[in-house]
Amino acid sequence: MHIHQFDAVVVGAGGAGMMAALYASRGARTAVISKLYPTRSHTGTAQGGIGASLGNLEEDRWEWHAFDTVKGGDYLSDQNAAKVLAQEAIEAVIELEWMGLPFDRNDDGTISQRRFGGHTNNETKKPVRRACHSADRTGHMILQTLYQNCIKENVNFFDEFHAVDLIMNGDRPAGVVAVSIDTGELHIFHAKAITFATGGWGRMWSTTSNAHTLTGDGPAMFWRNGLPLQDMEFFQFHPTGLYPLGVLITEGVRGEGGVLINDRGERFMERYAPTIKDLASRDVVSRAIYLEVREKRGIKGKEYVYMDVRPETVNRYLAEAGESRRIDADYVRAKLPDIMDFCKIYAGVDPVESPIPIAPTAHYAMGGIPTNIHAQVIRDGKETVIPGLYAAGEVACVSVHGANRLGTNSLTDLIVFGRKAGQQMADYCRHADFVPLPDNPAGAIEAELERIRSSKGKQRPYDIRKKLRSEMMDKVGVFRQEDMMAEALETIRQLKEDYRNDLAVDDQGRRFNTDLLEAWELGCLLDIAEVTAACALERKESRGAHSREDYPKRDDVNYLAHTMVYPEGDGLRIAYDRPVDLSLGHEPKERVY
Ligand SMILES: Cc1cc2nc3c(=O)[nH]c(=O)nc-3n(C[C@H](O)[C@H](O)[C@H](O)COP(=O)(O)OP(=O)(O)OC[C@H]3O[C@@H](n4cnc5c(N)ncnc54)[C@H](O)[C@@H]3O)c2cc1C
Repeated sequence: MHIHQFDAVVVGAGGAGMMAALYASRGARTAVISKLYPTRSHTGTAQGGIGASLGNLEEDRWEWHAFDTVKGGDYLSDQNAAKVLAQEAIEAVIELEWMGLPFDRNDDGTISQRRFGGHTNNETKKPVRRACHSADRTGHMILQTLYQNCIKENVNFFDEFHAVDLIMNGDRPAGVVAVSIDTGELHIFHAKAITFATGGWGRMWSTTSNAHTLTGDGPAMFWRNGLPLQDMEFFQFHPTGLYPLGVLITEGVRGEGGVLINDRGERFMERYAPTIKDLASRDVVSRAIYLEVREKRGIKGKEYVYMDVRPETVNRYLAEAGESRRIDADYVRAKLPDIMDFCKIYAGVDPVESPIPIAPTAHYAMGGIPTNIHAQVIRDGKETVIPGLYAAGEVACVSVHGANRLGTNSLTDLIVFGRKAGQQMADYCRHADFVPLPDNPAGAIEAELERIRSSKGKQRPYDIRKKLRSEMMDKVGVFRQEDMMAEALETIRQLKEDYRNDLAVDDQGRRFNTDLLEAWELGCLLDIAEVTAACALERKESRGAHSREDYPKRDDVNYLAHTMVYPEGDGLRIAYDRPVDLSLGHEPKERVY
């Protein structure tokens, strides 16, 4: 057993993890553990932009950004968190620029900004240009910039180390257990302060924009250590996944003027969101597409619609809206180079010549590990902090995104709250001591990995995973109903039994045993899926991304509160015991777009 000691350990090397590590490293000896090589983290695939009310092209204010975030989140966003996000976004983007991030520029040298869903001028209600971008590779640029800066600050990277357990000593965090993927050996990282930044879990659904590695390891490790999770029923389906694969086609396409079209050639969002149309929030647009498909207005009667960014279409609608701007094919190619490639490679479509086939795709976890606005993990609805434990990025539930995240707000979240986690860790390490490691800190996880490695049942992880993903897609997806979700929950529990008692893993070796680690990841997906389905079943209202056909209205009397879900014995307990912060004074209203 290898034992390492660092003041601060960060699990995850995406935007949130590296921002946390960068700031922690300025005051503490810091290590980053990542199952992927850092620059392969999912942040690198983020396309459209990072939101900040710089107001470079037209008037914008942080107050509008905060309100749009709260409204987009269907009033489940904590307003103190939305305020921090919107205010600090401005400085965070400038900081990235100074670190060397090559943003697209306006003629006057300022950072270029474009429109994105739900971002508006609160006075005129029209879309506002708030998304700062580097072509359609914004996340890639963020990740490269942060990695280079971490290297400069001598952050210690443990690449291709797969964390498998959080070590708690009583109610205090003491470290992390990780498997070196190369050798298969277990390593213990003893630390004073730990940040989890492990990203999302979109692989729980069969159509997803998420990378293979997004399997909810972080929340599963917390859950298995008796810690609660928050708002797990809220999972966003992005409206424009390339049909049928689900590969993401950024909202930036609509930000540049692209429109959604049904089989009759209608721009159907005019009916669902008369003011903001194709740039309504994602939950609204995803539902509209499903309804069009249900009414047999999908293209050729199938389960998709078109997104049209051909210059002649865009220019026609720009003229109709009385805008002087016009675009041509070269402009589309320059602003959306990766999208052009994805469409050609995966769908054989050139977007400047033909419309793009799209359908909703599982995209983003609004819920996760509960934290306060300082990125400190809390253990209950009374805001009790767990000293030394932090979470940031998609895995965390601050909760700034509430019931539905606005586009570009995740990248902002990573930078703003990743930085907070880093600052907190550095401060904490200055005065805190190491919590001693408990006896045999890796014993339980070692036994579990051995069980998986030597399992000789009949069910392959691939088959269990496939069943889980289609069950979640069909029954805990964009539209939800009591009986369907109850069925899903039963199936998940059966799959958990199979996983426990009838698993078959081929590779019994030690080195690069990805068979073993993928099976372990499946266990995480199963645990988190059970929590998701149970929380979705319990919340009897429709809010943001959680849309119930049997309870179609939002119910602020009974459900204007965060869902806290606590592990209890072999089961779970759900409580709405964390109130929503309304400190900006935005009382819940009906959302009109
Ligand atoms: C295709 C796509 C496009 C997007 N576009 C945008 C956009 O334009 N704007 C926007 O705001 N948002 C966008 N998003 C959302 C946003 O990119 C993500 O929410 C965000 O990047 C997540 O960052 P993160 O740092 O939390 O985690 P990630 O970047 O996902 O990184 C997770 C890290 O955790 C590590 N990890 C996970 N589990 C373990 C483990 N068990 N052991 C060790 N390491 C582990 C991984 O190795 C990785 O380094 C997009 C998402 C996708 C999928």
